Amino acid sequence: MNKHAQDTTDGVKKVGIIGGGRGGTALLQTLGRLSQVTVVGICDINPQAPALDLAKASGIATYAEMEQLVDAQPIDWLINATNRSVAQRHILSHQFSNATLIDGHIAELIWQLLLDFERALESGVDETILNGLKWTLIQRIVDTAQPVQRELEYIAFHDPLTDLYSRQMLLEFSEREISSAYRHERYLSMVVVDIDHFKRVNDTFGHDAGDVVLKELADLLNGSCRRSDMAARYGGEEFVVILPNTDLLSATTWAERMRKKIARSLQTPDGTRVTISLGVAGLEFADETPPEGTTPLSFEAFFKQADQMLYEAKNAGRNRVASTRITVRHRTNSAPPPTH
Ligand code: GH3
Ligand code: MG
Ligand code: MG
Repeated sequence: MNKHAQDTTDGVKKVGIIGGGRGGTALLQTLGRLSQVTVVGICDINPQAPALDLAKASGIATYAEMEQLVDAQPIDWLINATNRSVAQRHILSHQFSNATLIDGHIAELIWQLLLDFERALESGVDETILNGLKWTLIQRIVDTAQPVQRELEYIAFHDPLTDLYSRQMLLEFSEREISSAYRHERYLSMVVVDIDHFKRVNDTFGHDAGDVVLKELADLLNGSCRRSDMAARYGGEEFVVILPNTDLLSATTWAERMRKKIARSLQTPDGTRVTISLGVAGLEFADETPPEGTTPLSFEAFFKQADQMLYEAKNAGRNRVASTRITVRHRTNSAPPPTH
C-alpha cells in the first residue's frame, strides 16, 4: 500500500514504472527527457529485464516487486507497462489508490506517441516546442481516458445489486493472493458466507425485500473488511471474503464477530432477524509433514474446504461458524520461490 501522500507541490510528476520490458524501456527513454516528469523507480520481477539496466545506468531505483516501488517513495503516476490482465490492474489501482494508475493500453499509447515524436525530432523539429507538445498530449490522454477506464472497470468487476466484487474478480484476486501466500509463506484465510433460510425471506416478503437484505448484508461485510481484504458475491445469497495475512484463529474471530453483528442488525421488513452461517479455511505453513504438497492450491480446492465448513455450520443448526486449517510444508530447499 502506498503510505505516502500525493506530492505534486513542485509540479513535477513523480512516475513509477511497472515492467522492464519493451514498454518500460520506451517509457524510461522518452519520459526521462521531459522536465515535467521524474521517473523515480521501475520494477520487474525478472532481474534480467532490459529496462532495469538502463534505469541503473541513469541512477533510477529498481525493484523486484511493485509493492517495494510504491512503498519506497511518493508516486503520482504508476504506469503499468506489463501485459497483466485488466482485472489485475484494477486490483492494483484499488490497493495503490494514492497514485493514478495508468493502464497498460493507455501506457502503450503514450510510449508509442512519444516514439513518434522522437522520430519527428530526428527529422529536424525544434526540441523545446516538441517536448512541450509531448507533455500536453500525455496529460490529455491521461485526463480523458483514465476516468472512463475506471468507470468501465467498476462495472465489469462489481456485482450490480450488492456493489461487491464479482465472482470473476474473486478468482483473479484469490489466484494472486494464493500465489503470494506461497511465495512469502504467509497466512491466508477464506470465509464463505451464506444466509440462513433465505428462501423464506423471498417467499414471505417478495424478491425485492430479499434484494434489500442482500444489499444490507453486503454493506456490513464490506464495512468489516480491510483494504487488503476482498469481499465478493459468489452467487445468489452466498459470499466469499478473502483475508490475506490472516491466520485461522483471527479469521475465525472475524467470522464470529460478523455472525454476531448480522444476527443483531439484519432483519426482514417485519423485524424478524436474519442470520448467516460461515465456513472458514485458513492456509498456514508449518515444519511438520503436512497432508498437502507445496504446489499452490487452486482457488477451487481452497473454496471446497471453506464450503465444506459452511455445510457443517448449516448441519450443526445454522447461525454459526465452522473452520478448518490447511497446513502446507515450509520450503526446505533454497530454490527460488515461484513467481506469477
Ligand atoms: P439455507 O439456510 O440452507 O442456506 O437455506 P436457504 O433458503 O438460504 O437456501 P436455498 O439455497 O434453498 O435458497 C436460496 C435462495 O436465494 C433461493 C433464491 O431464490 C434466492 N436468491 C438467489 N439470488 C437472489 C437474488 O439476487 N435476489 C433475491 N431476492 N433472492 C435470491
Ligand atoms: Mg442460504
Ligand atoms: Mg446458498
